[in-house]
Order: sequence, then C-alpha cells, then structure tokens
Amino acid sequence: MSTTVRLSSLLFVLVFAWAGSANEGTLAFVGATIIDGTAAAPLSDGVLVISDGRVRSVGPRSAVTLPDDVEIISVEGKTIMPGLINAHGHVGATVGLDANADSSTENLLRQLRLYARYGITTVNSLGGDEAAGFTLRDEQYRADLDRARLFVAGSVIAGNDAQSVRDQVNRNADRGANFIKTRIDDNLGATPKMPRAVFDALVDQAHSRRLPVAVHLFYLDDAKYMLKADADLIAHSIRDLPVDDEFIDAVSAKRVCYIPTLTREISTFVYGSVPEFFSDPYFLKEADPAVLEALQTPERMSRMAASRSAQAYKAGLEVAMGNVGALHAAAVPIAMGTDTGPPARFQGYFEHLELQLMVDAGMSPLDAIRSATGIAADCIGMSDLGTLEPGRWADFSVLSADPTENIANTKTIESVYIAGNRVAD
Ligand SMILES: [Zn+2]
Repeated sequence: MSTTVRLSSLLFVLVFAWAGSANEGTLAFVGATIIDGTAAAPLSDGVLVISDGRVRSVGPRSAVTLPDDVEIISVEGKTIMPGLINAHGHVGATVGLDANADSSTENLLRQLRLYARYGITTVNSLGGDEAAGFTLRDEQYRADLDRARLFVAGSVIAGNDAQSVRDQVNRNADRGANFIKTRIDDNLGATPKMPRAVFDALVDQAHSRRLPVAVHLFYLDDAKYMLKADADLIAHSIRDLPVDDEFIDAVSAKRVCYIPTLTREISTFVYGSVPEFFSDPYFLKEADPAVLEALQTPERMSRMAASRSAQAYKAGLEVAMGNVGALHAAAVPIAMGTDTGPPARFQGYFEHLELQLMVDAGMSPLDAIRSATGIAADCIGMSDLGTLEPGRWADFSVLSADPTENIANTKTIESVYIAGNRVAD
C-alpha cells in the first residue's frame, strides 16, 4: 500500500470522525423542571446530562454527579420536555398548496427542519414516501443530526385484489419501510372500500414481513374489523359514532394505539372562513404569505364553506373529540398525530394545535405531552426515542413556560436539541 493511499484513508477517517462529532462535549442542563416523557411526575430543579447525542443521566440536582469535562447550561425557571413525536405525518412532495411539487431530498429536508424548529423531533410518515425519504431515514442514526427524524411507510397500499396487495406490501418491505399503511374507509362514500378478504391478505403479508399495519379509517365498524384482523395502529379518529364498550374492550385487549389526527379534520373545513390561528405569531413566523393569501381568496373560501365533505368532517370532529376523551378515560394508548404534510396542514404548528385539541377533548396537559413523547415512541416501536432516560437519543426542547400549567405553553420553545445538537432557529 502506498503512502499516498494510506494518507488519504487517514484523512478520510479524520474528516468522517469530525463530521460525526458535532456534539462530542458533555452538556449539563441545570435547574429546569424536567418532563421526561414517562409516566413519572415532572421533576423540579432537575439536571439533564447529555453526551455523544444521547441522554447520559437525568435526575434532581442533588442526585446527579456532573462529569469533570462538562459544560453547564443554566436553565433555571425553564421547562425541558422530550422532542415531540408526530405518530402520523407526511414528508413528501408538497410545496405551498401544491401536493406534487417536489419530491427531492432538499424539499424533504426543508420540511424536517421546519418540524424541528417547532420542537417536533420525529415524524412517522404514513405514506407517499419515495426514495429520498428512505435515504434520509437511513442516514439519521448519527450524532450530528440537526433535523427531525423520519420514519417511512412507502406507498399507501390500495386495491381490491389480494395478490396485488401482497405484491405492494412486498415492494414496500423490500425497500425497508417501517410501516405498511392502508385505507379501510370509503372517502365518505366516494370510493369503494377495500374488500375485507383483501384487507386480511394485506395484514397477513405485512406480518409475514414483520411489519405493522397502520390503518386510515373513519367508521367505528371498520375500526372493530381492523382489530379483529389484527392490524396494528389506528391512524385516525373514529368519526361516525361514539366508541362503545365492544370497541373499547377490543382495542384494550389488543393493545392497539389510537392516533386522533384532530387537526386533519380542522384542515378540511377551517379555511371556509379566516382561521383564528392566522393571527398567531407562532404560526406566522413560519407561514408563507403567498399560501395565506391563496387560502383567503373569496372563491376558495366559499367553495370550502359550501363543500359537503367539509361539513361532514366538521361534524366528524365533534364525534372525534368525544371519542378521544372516552378512550383516554379508558386508558387506551393515544399517540399524538396530525396528518400534517399535505397542503394547508401546516407542519410544526399543527402539532401544537393538536395538543390543544387533545386537552380540549379531556386530556390533562401532561397526558397530552406523554401522548406526544413516550407513548408515541412506544406506539411506533422506537424504544430509543420519546423519553429523557439514560441511553435514549437527546431529543428535547427548552421552554420558557411550563406546558403542564397551560398546554399553550408548548409554544414557548426557546431551543430545540436533536441528538444533542441545537437546531438552528
Ligand atoms: Zn395521513
């Protein structure tokens, strides 16, 4: 081996090591109230120590020994909570109000950075994922990450033929999808439902590839069926009827998680008039004025106000809110998810709106935060995310006000860290 070759390999190793060492120092965040994302009560005057992108220790000030080489960051009077996990989002080709504008890596990174600035540090993209999404998913197991993490489902499985559905599942599995996503409802009667025998084949094929099945649904009856068929994740609220004991017993017995996506419903009717959040500075700081203008053109607003499906989904939201309250009271695991990503479902901001709606539906602020952190991580099967426990990735936000007192305080994020790296404002 020539000296030149050896030198260049050495250089490569040095450059590679440098690129992966953005946060090699050990940081201690001292004095905050710490919400750790588990069932534990918030810890006052806490210390969070991170190194190499992960949580090293966490506890009350008196119980945590600081390492010698530590850099101390005083966060007294502030609150630390884990990065929020959106258990049902989409990171795809949307730009502005165009759903099919740009499926490039750059456009996906733009969205993942937007989520990150809002403190959403993981997005479980349930469908529509193309090559760039799979690549970004593969690249994120690194200590210099500074954008939201992404998990992918690939194409949404559809059709009325069992073999075709099995083939589609296999294609997504071969590409390395994290979930299999399908739709069991009928678009409010606009499209035929997937035949149940075909749905059974889909679940069978996904499970033979060791992949969980996330289900888009609307009707209580379909929700009961997907549980019978052993599907794994309810990706939207039940919106036709209040949940009953039969459903609550089945969903509890199967330990299936429920993702309300209440803001998805909001997005179907709210632009019939000017939404309240159009005057929220926390929304406006990231909103594209051209998009806001387009959403407020009189033709578009009156079209939405007169839309039959908008009215149906608006009524569905009322049912959905009641069901979130009932399922939470029955201790069914609820994972925060929004279905953001398609046009006018604003990534980053809608997750905060979703937390507010979950509280309006009857959850305590702390329970809503758990739904968006530790419980969401469990529901998407990611055991190294979601809580601030030793060994987990150091994904968290520092807030100036306590969100357990008022859920709107999740919007007081001062800084966001992903794998211990501060996300650029
Ligand atoms: Zn979706």
